[in-house]
Amino acid sequence: MPTVPSMASDAIRNRMVQRLAGQGIGDVRVLRAMMAVERHLFVDSALVNQAYEDTSLPIGFGQTISKPNVVARMIELLLGASALAGQPDARLGRILEVGTGCGYQATVLSHVASEVYSIERLRGLHERARTNIRPLRLATVHLLFGDGMVGYAKGGPYAGIIAAAGGDAVPQAWIDQLAVGGRIVAPMQSTGGGQVLVVIDKTPAGVQRRVLEAVHFVPLKSGIA
Ligand code: SAH
Repeated sequence: MPTVPSMASDAIRNRMVQRLAGQGIGDVRVLRAMMAVERHLFVDSALVNQAYEDTSLPIGFGQTISKPNVVARMIELLLGASALAGQPDARLGRILEVGTGCGYQATVLSHVASEVYSIERLRGLHERARTNIRPLRLATVHLLFGDGMVGYAKGGPYAGIIAAAGGDAVPQAWIDQLAVGGRIVAPMQSTGGGQVLVVIDKTPAGVQRRVLEAVHFVPLKSGIA
């Protein structure tokens, strides 16, 4: 494991969190979670000195970890689910993450949610995430190997579903496995050809969809490899 003296890593992470706040991340639950998780433990040793910069980084197998700003933004959106309205200190319930990658975002999520189910379709990355998370002893993070396009019904219904890979559409299975009052935050192919961030709320009155800013995620693929 790469070793950055922990005091130094605290100071660097504190600067990252200050920058996130300056970029408009206002939810203290998110800022605290971003402060708590040592991002450098999840990236390749050659990239450790870039771990706290606002940049996406390769995590092997052709995949990337999103930049801190995007992770924070998506988790902040997840916490905006109507089930938590008016409860600025509350935790989310069960969360499904599609695309575990190196396990960084799953670990951040464990600070704002009661249980995190995270599914990865590439065995190599699933195993890498296991190795990264094992020393942290996170009893509430459940790493699954499989195709997240079908969700993970056994862990549901979910208070939130967050995808780290973008497809042509949000799979119906995710909407089915979402609790009423819950929210999906996912990148999706836009009609213009790029990707956009989509927020889907499941309300007693039905499903509401909002399209937000342009984003750049790796593709959501079906099947396992
Ligand atoms: N949240 C991750 C980022 C991972 S990048 C982190 O913090 O590191 C997106 C990941 O989604 C890739 O590892 C890719 O393999 C995975 N992925 C793509 N389609 C998937 C699917 N259908 N099911 C599960 N994982 C998928």
